[in-house]
Amino acid sequence: MAEIRTHACAADHCDIQVPSHLLMCRKDWALVPSAVKTQVLRAYRNRPRTGWGPYAEAVAAAKQAVAHALRAIREGIPDDTELTIWTGDEAAGRD
Ligand SMILES: [Zn+2]
Repeated sequence: MAEIRTHACAADHCDIQVPSHLLMCRKDWALVPSAVKTQVLRAYRNRPRTGWGPYAEAVAAAKQAVAHALRAIREGIPDDTELTIWTGDEAAGRD
């Protein structure tokens, strides 16, 4: 059985171990706006051409988005259109 390589979630506050092909744990990744997710994934795919620079920038943006989202949640700021709050059950509300 192959050993699964893991690393700590990229979010600053978080040390959950995630498989090496994922940037963040499921909970934190869900806080990243889809535009930033796209940026991260695209930069990762383009590494052979562009190198790690754009990827590092995209990851920084994703980490910042998570920090911003968590701060908003902690401070009770309602409905920020930039935010997608992970509810713990993606199937909730669906029949
Ligand atoms: Zn995490």
